[in-house]
Amino acid sequence: MNLRRNTLIAFVVLLALLPQLPVPEFWITQGNYIGLYTLVAIGLVLLTGVAGLTSFGQAAFVGLGAYTAAYLTLSHGVSPWLTVWIGLAFTGSVALVLGWVTLRMSGHYLPLATIAWGLSLYYLLGNIQALGKYDGLLGIPALNFFGIDLNTGRSFFYLLWAVVVLAAIAITHLLDSRTGRALRAVKGGTTMAEAMGVNTYRIKVTAFVLAALLASVSGWLFAHFQRTVNPSPFGLNMGIEYLFMAVIGGVGHVWGGLVGAGVVQILKDQLQVLLPKLLGGSGNYEVIVFGVLLIVVLQYARDGIWAFVEARLPHVQRKNDWAAAPALTERARPSHGSVVLDVKQVRKEFGGLVAVNDVSFQVRAGEIMGLIGPNGAGKSTTFNLVTGVLPATRGEVRLLGERIEGLASREIARRGVSRTFQHVKMIAGMTVLENVALGAHLRGTRGVASAMLRTDRAEERQLLKEAEKQLRRIGMAEQMHELAGNLALGPQRLMEIARALCADPMLLLLDEPAAGLRLKEKQGLADVLRQLRGEGLSILLVEHDMDLVMGLVDRIVVMEFGTKLIEGTPEEVQASPAVRAAYLGTEH
Ligand code: ADP
Ligand code: MG
Repeated sequence: MNLRRNTLIAFVVLLALLPQLPVPEFWITQGNYIGLYTLVAIGLVLLTGVAGLTSFGQAAFVGLGAYTAAYLTLSHGVSPWLTVWIGLAFTGSVALVLGWVTLRMSGHYLPLATIAWGLSLYYLLGNIQALGKYDGLLGIPALNFFGIDLNTGRSFFYLLWAVVVLAAIAITHLLDSRTGRALRAVKGGTTMAEAMGVNTYRIKVTAFVLAALLASVSGWLFAHFQRTVNPSPFGLNMGIEYLFMAVIGGVGHVWGGLVGAGVVQILKDQLQVLLPKLLGGSGNYEVIVFGVLLIVVLQYARDGIWAFVEARLPHVQRKNDWAAAPALTERARPSHGSVVLDVKQVRKEFGGLVAVNDVSFQVRAGEIMGLIGPNGAGKSTTFNLVTGVLPATRGEVRLLGERIEGLASREIARRGVSRTFQHVKMIAGMTVLENVALGAHLRGTRGVASAMLRTDRAEERQLLKEAEKQLRRIGMAEQMHELAGNLALGPQRLMEIARALCADPMLLLLDEPAAGLRLKEKQGLADVLRQLRGEGLSILLVEHDMDLVMGLVDRIVVMEFGTKLIEGTPEEVQASPAVRAAYLGTEH
């Protein structure tokens, strides 16, 4: 942390000194453009790098901010210190509607919609008489900051970079928070995030609106810096260029936005001078170089320039400041032996395939139920029906008597059901501790604003303390500061269990948790599960390791081809000729 803080302080001091030094005006202007672009690129880092959503329409949001400022100031004499807020409200509303409509749909709707949005705003601005058509609006006044006219590049530089640094800090804070973890969790699909209680649709819209707001501020500054606006800097070309900055710099890192904006702006400027000289004639040759460069970066340095720099910086371990935090409150557990999960005649068809064929069973409080059967028997599908990942074709699932089969995954999670996945789902670039803390998402409430302002720290300490507690329980405290992606498969599975436990569930569903574990790890896992059972937790366990299952569970449901074959104690199941024939015979 200290190295980072010192780097930031050095950077701010450098920024403060720069306009005082005999730097040519040209470089001050470049610095101003880099600042304006950095604001937009930071938004894209959040949107594209962190949340995995692509927008080509950021330039159009810059345009909204810029035109709102220009028009209101010129035509109605509104103070720029008011127009910035009006611009934010306007841009935010447009982004909200756009995000609200397109983010419901998966896949490529957002990139396509932002292309359409970027194109249409450009032509709209160019055709409105009151906005000066393609000539735009001229004579926008300079900003006046408490009596100081910011009418020179050097004076403007201070305001601009103050805004950039504040935005960078706010977004850095956001990423290191409950909401930040939820944002990261939506990148590679929403199933896991939803299972942890995250409203992924809402979080995506939030990221989209935040990125648009940063673009809007950039537009407001842009209007008062250039003192004139016209549609061309807000078209699709520029939208692509912003994306390019984020990718070059490193889409996952706030400082990547700065690096990308800097590199692209300086390179573009140099190329615009150099290329026509080399190639003769005039033309936007730099576009070709950018295209080639983008391909090279995507091929050889997917994570951009900043990731390359970061890998060479000393690794900073998170300081443990949560040891003294009060423990989170725990949910009341149902009384021992009462029915927690009641699955009644549940059926799931995939086209003609009956994956789960009218299966019924119950799991009681303080009981471990094994769910076994050959591959393709329908075990994971049953998990998905219970946890709301898939809708049942018919049948009922009740949790403490309440029907849950129609509920969203996150609503079921909220009621106390937590799970792991047969194929580990995690955020590889986040530490083990942060991955596990995601499991406690529903036990916190703090959102974007308090994360940015750091008023969420007391709650954050509680969440991290809970994460550490569950990691310790599962025997992984030593690895909490490692990146999850660097773990072997076994520990990754254990990490998922710790994450599920962070939700303080009453029902825990484990899908092949021991696959890839070493014998000692398996024994450790069995001990933990026994301990949890003793605490009154209900566990539904899918597992192929029969020694583990038979020695651990209270009862077993055997499935084959989607159908429940038998239910009984481990002894009864082992003694059943049908099971021997169908399943155990092939395993042993
Ligand atoms: P198990 O976990 O017992 O190995 P699954 O529940 O994963 O079995 O799968 C049961 C059957 O349903 C398999 O034949 C599988 O191919 C099929 N299946 C699972 N998920 C889907 C899906 N999303 N679409 C179509 N078929 C599926
Ligand atoms: Mg399975």
